[in-house]
Amino acid sequence: MDNITAEELDQKTRQCIRCGFCLDACPTFRITGQETLSPRGRIYLVRSWQQDKIELDKHVLHALDSCLGCRACETACPSGVEYGSILEMARTEIESRSLRTPAQSFARRQLLRVLTTPGQLAASLQAGRLLRPLTGGKLPGFAARLLSGGAQSSVQLPVPQEEAAVHTLPPLTPALHETRFKVGMVAGCVMKVLFSRTNHATASVLAANGCDVLCPPAAECCGALHIHAGQHEDALQKARRLLDAFEPHLPELDAVVINSAGCGSTLREYDKLLQHDDAYREKAKLFTSKVRDISEWLVEIGIAPPSAPLSRVVSYHDACHLAHGQRIKEQPRQLLRSIPGLQLVEMEEADTCCGSAGIYNIVQPEMARKLLIRKIEHIRATGATHIATANPGCLAWIEQGLMEAGLDISISHPVEILAEAYSKSGQLQQ
Ligand code: SF4
Ligand code: SF4
Repeated sequence: MDNITAEELDQKTRQCIRCGFCLDACPTFRITGQETLSPRGRIYLVRSWQQDKIELDKHVLHALDSCLGCRACETACPSGVEYGSILEMARTEIESRSLRTPAQSFARRQLLRVLTTPGQLAASLQAGRLLRPLTGGKLPGFAARLLSGGAQSSVQLPVPQEEAAVHTLPPLTPALHETRFKVGMVAGCVMKVLFSRTNHATASVLAANGCDVLCPPAAECCGALHIHAGQHEDALQKARRLLDAFEPHLPELDAVVINSAGCGSTLREYDKLLQHDDAYREKAKLFTSKVRDISEWLVEIGIAPPSAPLSRVVSYHDACHLAHGQRIKEQPRQLLRSIPGLQLVEMEEADTCCGSAGIYNIVQPEMARKLLIRKIEHIRATGATHIATANPGCLAWIEQGLMEAGLDISISHPVEILAEAYSKSGQLQQ
C-alpha cells in the first residue's frame, strides 16, 4: 500500500471494542443476520488477516465486497471507529493483490473509467439508447455477470435527465443581485451527464442567494468511486487534478460547494487522502476546510425563502454519504420546509442505504435489489408524491425502483425543488 501503513490500519481496527452497537444499523446484517456481514465481523476479519491469523481468501473477499460502504455503522459506533477508512484500506489491498480474475478486474476498471469520464459515459448511454429495442435498456448480460462475479440479476442502464451529452456550466455564474459570497462549485463527472438539471439548479439557487459561482472548466472527477472501489492510485491522481483546477481560485473562495453526497464526503477527506503527499498536503487542507454540501452552505448563509407556494407532498431519503459520511441530515429538510405549501413527510428508515452505493448495485445486484425493494415499500407507505435525495446514485436507483413498482412518484435533488419554487416566485430572474 503506497500511502497507507499497516500501523494506521492496526490503530484503526484496534479501536473496535466489539460492543455490537453497530449491528442493527448495518443493512447487510439486518438482511442476512450473519456476523461476517456486519461491521464488527468485517473489522474482525480485516484485523485477523492483518495479523496473519487468516488468509485474505474468497470468504473475506465476499464479506468486504458485500459491504455497501454506507458508513451507518460509524454513526452508531460509540467508540469512534473510522470504518470507512478501514474499508478503503482493505479494498486497496485487495485490488493490489489481484484476488479477482483478470477479466473481472479489467471489467471493474473499465466500468469506473466509463462512469467517470463524461464523454465516454454520454457516448455509452447514447449507444444504449439506440440499442434499446434489442437490450431493453439493460447492460449486456455477459458484462453484468462478469462485473458481479456471476450473479443472475440484470442491470438497467440509467436514463439521463436530458439528452445523453456532457452539459457543462459556464466558468462564472454571477450573483443575481449584490455579491455576498464567492464560491467554487464542483460539477462532477456523472452529474454533468446524468443530472445536468441538478447542476444548473444548484448554480441558479446559489446566484439567487448572492453567490458568484466559479466552475473551473478543468475540474473533473473527484475520485470518490475509485476510493470506494479500492483504486487508490487512480483516486490520488483524480484528487490532485481537481486540486490543480481549483488552486488559482482557492484563496478568494468562501466555500467550495458540491451537490453530490458521495463526492462531497470524499472532498471533505482530501486532507487525509493526501496527508503523505508533500506537494499537495497543504493545498488539500485548505481545500477541505472550504468544502460544503449545497444544503449545508445555503443554511449557513441564510437563504431568501421562496414567496410562491409549491403544493407537493415530499419525503426525503438521506443519502448515506451525506447522513453518515458528512453527518448532514437536518439542512436538506430545513430547505424543503422553507418552501411554502410543501408538506414534508418522513419515511421509515430514511437514513438506511437504498442499495445504490456507487457501483454496488452493479457488482452486488442481489443485495442491492433487496434493499431497493425495502426502500420502495417505505416510500409507498408515506403517500408522498415526490422523493428528494442528494446523491446521483440514489436518484437513479430509486427512480428505477419507483418505475418498476409502477408508482407515480417523481424524484429529484432538494435543490431542484428549491429552484422550482424560486422560479415560480420569479426569484431566479434579475
Ligand atoms: S459499534 Fe463500533 S466499537 Fe462497537 S462493534 Fe461496532 S464498530 Fe466495534
Ligand atoms: S458500511 Fe454499511 S454495509 Fe458496510 S459494515 Fe458499515 S453499516 Fe454495514
